[in-house]
Amino acid sequence: KKIIITIDGWSSCGKSTLAKQLARELHYVYIDSGAMYRAITLYFLRHHIDWTIPAAVHEALQHIKLEFITNHKNGQTEMWLNGENVEYVIRDLVIAEKVSEVAAVKEVREYAVAKQQEMGRKKGIVMDGRDIGTVVFPHAELKIFMTADEKVRVQRRYKELYEKNPNITLEEVKQNLEHRDYIDSHRAISPLRQAEDALVLDNSHLTMKQQLEIAEGWVKE
Ligand code: C5P
Repeated sequence: KKIIITIDGWSSCGKSTLAKQLARELHYVYIDSGAMYRAITLYFLRHHIDWTIPAAVHEALQHIKLEFITNHKNGQTEMWLNGENVEYVIRDLVIAEKVSEVAAVKEVREYAVAKQQEMGRKKGIVMDGRDIGTVVFPHAELKIFMTADEKVRVQRRYKELYEKNPNITLEEVKQNLEHRDYIDSHRAISPLRQAEDALVLDNSHLTMKQQLEIAEGWVKE
């Protein structure tokens, strides 16, 4: 029987890596909810939308079409915004610096959550984010909450971003992670929380294979 698996947790603790692997092993669909908030942020920045004005946000959201499309070269789902593949650009630090502010806006969350719930109507999905087990799918069969030491998380994200931009500094990456974690866990609507029935996975000292084994064990239970 196919189920819904949610993976929430702090920034850059390996949620998407685990979610992708798990989806591949189980033949499930992987959905990166953070990519939606990132794509909306990209649109707002490009079109100079003031996201502190609810009416402006409401209007802008009517012009946004988000799609997850499978790239047949690598089998991975990618984020498309109004017909453009934005999977790569939404990972920029420019987006990361603003996304938590945008994701704290009520209209934005309502829009994204409705789409996420729609995608969950068909079971057999792994979705990662911040509020998936608490708000989007409170009745999910398996909820995982991931953590890792901050040092480990900063190093991982730095390595990823450095490949794209060698001018980036470790300090910038650290500041951004702390900034996002702070806003994400303190915002008024759906703050980052560990669901009461979530199973905790601290991967500071685990290999990918070990994490996958633990998670697959939970799926079988
Ligand atoms: O997962 P990722 O780091 O790409 O998410 C980017 C940002 O999107 C997070 O820092 C958070 O502000 C927001 N987000 C959210 N709720 C989710 C997923 C992401 O608020 N379910």
